[in-house]
Amino acid sequence: MTDCARIAGVGVDTRHWIGGERIASSGRFPVFSPIDGEPLAEVSAGSGREADAAVRAAGEAFPRWAALGPAGRRPILEQLANGILARIDELSAVETRDNGSLLIGNRKNVMARCAHNVAFFAELACRMEGEVIAGDTVDNHVRYEPSGVAALITPWNAPLMLSTWKVGPALAAGNTVVLKPPEWAPLTCSMLADVAAEAGLPAGVLNVLQGTGGEAGAALAAHPDLARISFTGSVPTARRIGRSAAESLIPVSFELGGKSPFIVFADADLDAAARTIARQYVNAGQVCLAGTRILVEAKAAEPLLAKVRAETGTLPVGDPRDLATRIGPLIHPRQHERVRGYVERALAHGARVLFGGGPHPFGDLYYQPTLLEGAAPGDEIFDEEVFGPVLTWNTFGDEDEAVTLANATRYGLAAMVYTGDPARAERIAAAVVAGTVWVNCYFVRDLAAPFGGAGISGIGREGGRWSFDFFCDVKNVAVRRGSFGAGQGGGQSRG
Ligand code: NAD
Repeated sequence: MTDCARIAGVGVDTRHWIGGERIASSGRFPVFSPIDGEPLAEVSAGSGREADAAVRAAGEAFPRWAALGPAGRRPILEQLANGILARIDELSAVETRDNGSLLIGNRKNVMARCAHNVAFFAELACRMEGEVIAGDTVDNHVRYEPSGVAALITPWNAPLMLSTWKVGPALAAGNTVVLKPPEWAPLTCSMLADVAAEAGLPAGVLNVLQGTGGEAGAALAAHPDLARISFTGSVPTARRIGRSAAESLIPVSFELGGKSPFIVFADADLDAAARTIARQYVNAGQVCLAGTRILVEAKAAEPLLAKVRAETGTLPVGDPRDLATRIGPLIHPRQHERVRGYVERALAHGARVLFGGGPHPFGDLYYQPTLLEGAAPGDEIFDEEVFGPVLTWNTFGDEDEAVTLANATRYGLAAMVYTGDPARAERIAAAVVAGTVWVNCYFVRDLAAPFGGAGISGIGREGGRWSFDFFCDVKNVAVRRGSFGAGQGGGQSRG
């Protein structure tokens, strides 16, 4: 048993990172590659003891990190971002081996985005001037102050991307953090600790607590000394975390699952719509934002289906390390079982296969891109998130029916609308329940824009200044106008 695993030629420490030190637990959990089932590492399995140590280390580091102010933190965070950029190839190789995501995506987009997640918020924090709201007799100076220790809990489908999306703004705002990576893909978050140390991030500012959700995650979420919990993952886990957070009245931000509608009107560019529908299968459909319910205007159904079938057929299924591959494996045998179960139950319940419908012969964890028709609101396959390469297909007659079908689940993460009519796009965008609506596009996530879910897809928004609304304590300082004499209004700075 060793504290370092060698993955794709890269050494990865498998211990926690707490208070600027590597700390091992007596217990470990195994990590396997979804590509070929090879054991990759034995990672320290944190318990309440390590969770407590991590929160304490973060608490001790907090006052000095907060006191640096945004301008003092920015150069260190930029070093962190540069460190990620310098390791794009290594991080990409390890992420792909660990969670089966596409190497081409990691190399070309995802890892650079991880760096941007840090640099963007470091810069934005410097521009978050406290707003001044003029009252009748006072000036209200709005201050964004660091809130304390933030627990950040993330899922396996894009571990480093979703972790830096929280680490970046939380640190830029002046908080210190305990990051709990997903146990099915924990390795790149461990590498982030090394990059942070090299960047000069002071000890205790970023802590990485490894372990299972049920033990390390639950202990962290229940810690009474947290100031914030930001969680991305599934609805059932969010309910558990929410119950813990309620005990200590800790504000939570939840980014959860989706069952997003992909609405296509007959006046749309059907070729573009079909290409984008086929993209919902990329990464084996393990994408929270995927449009998994295709809703198509009846008169366009036949030509669109032919195009979707053709586009999906061009997507190479294979080893995600092969740069040509677009559909790789599901992450874990349990995930494969889950996807199979959903499809089998849907078929038993009357759904029909338009294409796909079963495991893919390429490997044990592969599943065919699948399109099912004949499911309706109230059916499990229409209502619930599969988190695999499985879409449903329904037709509608008019806008009202499209909106009714779109809003027929309790999720509300995203919605895609393809139409050639801008007025219609506006009507549909207003009527669908979703945190993000993409019109004639998909998966464009500008860091400056708000992001989150409606319905059971989440609580709160992150992104741009919304991240600071969450990660900061917003304070109003009401200064009696004129009480300091002319020209002295009580200028405000940020913590
Ligand atoms: P999950 O809820 O099982 O686990 C997510 C994280 O929570 C992991 O780190 C896990 O260890 C931890 N965890 C589990 N039980 C816990 C507990 N009791 N207390 C504290 N932490 C606990 O989710 P998953 O299977 O890893 O990820 C898939 C889900 O994430 C899907 O529903 C997907 O839609 C969602 N997701 C959402 C977004 C988004 O931005 N909205 C992005 C990616 C994934």
